[in-house]
Amino acid sequence: MTKTSPAPTELPFPTSLCHLCAAPPRYITSARGSVFIMCPLLPNKYPPQPVRACPLFKPRPPQPGPGSDGSAGEPR
Ligand code: SF4
Repeated sequence: MTKTSPAPTELPFPTSLCHLCAAPPRYITSARGSVFIMCPLLPNKYPPQPVRACPLFKPRPPQPGPGSDGSAGEPR
């Protein structure tokens, strides 16, 4: 049996481009504890890892951090 999760504590193939992708990739944990990266955009779902280049890659937008409200001041 497998289960999906947003992101495991320890990423498989840490250098994979998928971790930075807006696709977003899904992380599948097998019954043996192996973690696989599933791509929702590719027909074969499981690209050979680590992915170093991908025509469908789009950078994941940065998460807003505390104190960054995006305001740059009001025009006068
Ligand atoms: S689109 Fe490419 S980079 Fe993004 S998750 Fe799929 S295989 Fe990885």
